[in-house]
Amino acid sequence: MNENNNRNVRDDERSVNGELTSLIDDRDLSRVVLSPEEQAYEEMIRQRIRARRRAAERKRIKRNRTIALILVMVIVLIVCRSCYAAHRKKRDEQKVNTESSVAEKTSTKKENTDSNAETPAETVESKPEETEHKIQQVDGLTFVDGILIVNKTYSVPEDYAPGINTAAQAAFDEMMNDALNDGVYLYINSGYRTYDEQYNLYYNYAYDRGVADADKFSSRPGHSEHQAGLCFDVNSTENSFAGTTEAKWLAAHCSDYGFIIRFPKGKEKYTGYEYEPWHIRFVGVELAKELTSKNLCLEEYLGVTSDYTLAQDPVSQEEMAEQLGVTVGDPNEVDETQGYEETDSGYYDNGGYSDNGYGY
Ligand SMILES: [Zn+2]
Repeated sequence: MNENNNRNVRDDERSVNGELTSLIDDRDLSRVVLSPEEQAYEEMIRQRIRARRRAAERKRIKRNRTIALILVMVIVLIVCRSCYAAHRKKRDEQKVNTESSVAEKTSTKKENTDSNAETPAETVESKPEETEHKIQQVDGLTFVDGILIVNKTYSVPEDYAPGINTAAQAAFDEMMNDALNDGVYLYINSGYRTYDEQYNLYYNYAYDRGVADADKFSSRPGHSEHQAGLCFDVNSTENSFAGTTEAKWLAAHCSDYGFIIRFPKGKEKYTGYEYEPWHIRFVGVELAKELTSKNLCLEEYLGVTSDYTLAQDPVSQEEMAEQLGVTVGDPNEVDETQGYEETDSGYYDNGGYSDNGYGY
């Protein structure tokens, strides 16, 4: 019993001693070490540390904000650039679509509405070559403002064989009578020609001189006004006809009867043919007088071309030569490209080739 009591007492003492020791230790740290001045100093140090920490925190936040701002700007820039690229691509596609098919206006409209409203619908419409004049195709014939046009660009079908136009014939008869009263004798050298007749005529020229030269004054089959029955070669079809009393009378008066000198001097680039003082085309009195007074050839007036390469089924001189089994250049020349121009002017001077009575 005593031993147990003693042990308990010793334990109590030990625990009390332990508490005291710990109390003393605490006091040593908090009170004993720091004087009031030291406490104030410590507080000051703590405040400085806190201030520095806050400053460092603010700096960190500021830096992070800057980085974030730069990142946002970069992202915005990338997005904008990709958006612009996409917009441009879409616009280009639309442009191509509108240009390629004006007729498909509905699909273009749909695309335009799909894209942003800020991009106005681009109306890029390919204008037709002739805007002022109405071109109609009827049974293979081409009418411009109601006038039948037959030239290097516009042909007539092979089986088109109307014969001579009765109004044209009547007008010529009247003109011929009036000319006779003036002491001028006019006659029809060549009027209506069929496709086959024109074929033979053209072939003979092309065979003799080559296609390039034949194209200057003779029409390919299907491209001759003579097949339409609306024109006449009057009197001589030689260049020597120019300047004669008959040629002068014809030029001065033919419009009074509804005719025009179809291939006037200086209009070769429009008509596609050399000057032919003998070839007259019937267009009616009103138009004939207008064209003559304004010094316009039919192609100029109607705003159309006369060029085999612009025809619906273009045939090059090389292809034509191959079809006919003839040469492009002068077959008599060794060198086709040189010397051909020289001999060209000589043909009419000696009059050797136009003696058969057919010009164009
Ligand atoms: Zn003719």
